[in-house]
Amino acid sequence: MGKKLYIPGPVEVSPDVYEAMAAPMIGHRMKEYAVLHREVTTGLKTMLNTQNPVFLSTSSAFGVMEGAVRNLVQKRCANFGNGAFSTKWHDVTRRCGLEADLFAADWGQPITPEMVDAALATGKYDAMTLVHNETSTGVLSPLEEIAGVMKKYPEVSFIVDTVSSMTAVPIDVDALGTDVCLAGVQKAFGLPPGLAVFAVSPKALEKAKTTPNRGYYFDFAEFAANDLKDNTPSTPCISLIYALAHQLRKFFAEGLENRYARHRQMAETTRSWILDQGFGLFAAEGYRSQTLTAGTNDGRTDLEKLKKLAGERGYAIDNGYGKIKNKTFRIPHMADMTLADLEELFTLLEELLPQVRG
Ligand SMILES: *Cc1c(COP(=O)(O)O)cnc(C)c1O
Repeated sequence: MGKKLYIPGPVEVSPDVYEAMAAPMIGHRMKEYAVLHREVTTGLKTMLNTQNPVFLSTSSAFGVMEGAVRNLVQKRCANFGNGAFSTKWHDVTRRCGLEADLFAADWGQPITPEMVDAALATGKYDAMTLVHNETSTGVLSPLEEIAGVMKKYPEVSFIVDTVSSMTAVPIDVDALGTDVCLAGVQKAFGLPPGLAVFAVSPKALEKAKTTPNRGYYFDFAEFAANDLKDNTPSTPCISLIYALAHQLRKFFAEGLENRYARHRQMAETTRSWILDQGFGLFAAEGYRSQTLTAGTNDGRTDLEKLKKLAGERGYAIDNGYGKIKNKTFRIPHMADMTLADLEELFTLLEELLPQVRG
C-alpha cells in the first residue's frame, strides 16, 4: 500500500490528476497536441503574468537548471547558495565546465539584495542563479527586492528556480524581469514528477543563440522555434501535460488569490503547531516559506523513529535534508493540501511524539 505523502516533494497527488493522466495517447506532431500545448502555455503565462514564452521540458527541474546555465553563462556565473538545492546548482554549473563562484549564506538565512549587489558590482559575471524558495531549509528569499537590484545589471542573466513556490505565491515574471523562471511540477503544482516548466525572456533567447556548447536537449533556441508551432523539440511527457492542463483549470477555478491565501493560512497554522509542540522554527523570521515549514529538533526527539512509526501508520513524513537531517524536519503545505490534511497529520504526530521523546 502506498503511503500518504507529507514530504516536500514529490507531493501527494489527487485522484482526479491521475484520471486526467489516463487520457488516450496522442502524437506530439498531431493537431491535438498543439491544442493541449497552447492551453497549458497560455495558462502558465496568465498565472505568471508574463508575455514571455513558457516552455515545457520533459525532465525534472535540474534538467532546466543545468540547461539555463549552459545557455546563458558565457563569461562567469554567480551562484547564490543558502541550502542544498541552491548550493548544488553551483556544483552543476561547474560540472558543465563553466566558470562560476558560490556566494553562500548560512542555511536558514535568505539570500539578500545586498549580497547580490555586492557580487554583481564586481563586473565579473554575466549570469546569476537564485533559488526563490529553498526547499531544504524552508527559506523564502526576497525575490522582489533582489529583482530590484537586478535592474541595475541588465547584462547579467537573472535565472530563478521557483520549483517549490510557483503556483503558491504570486510570481510576476514581467515585473520581476527574470530571464529564466523555472519550476518542476512535483512540488507546488501537485503533479507526479517528470515535467518542468520555464519562462524565458526575449533577451535571454537572443543571448542563448550566441552561446557555444549549449547542447541539444535543453537548447533554448530549439524550445523557442518549436513553441512557435505549439510544440516541443523532442517527444514530451504527454500524460503529464494532460494532468498539468487539469491542474491549471483547478487553480483558476479556485482563484489564484484564494490559492495564495490558502497557502499563507496553512503556513501560519503549521508554524503555530510546531511552536506549540516545543520545537523551534529553522528559517529566519520574515523569510519563512509559504509552502513548507522546517522545524528544529528540540534535542530530545528521535525523528528517525518518528518517521518509522508514521510509516507504519501509512504516512510518509520528512526528517530533514542533507546536512540538517534529523536536526530539522519539514512539513509541506503546498499543492492540493488543505487545512484538513494538516489536521490529520498533526493528530497523528501528537499521538506519536510522546513515544519518541526522551
Ligand atoms: C526539488 C527541488 C529541486 C530539484 O528538482 P528535481 O525535480 O529533483 O530536479 C530544485 N530546486 C528546488 C528548490 C527544489 O525544491
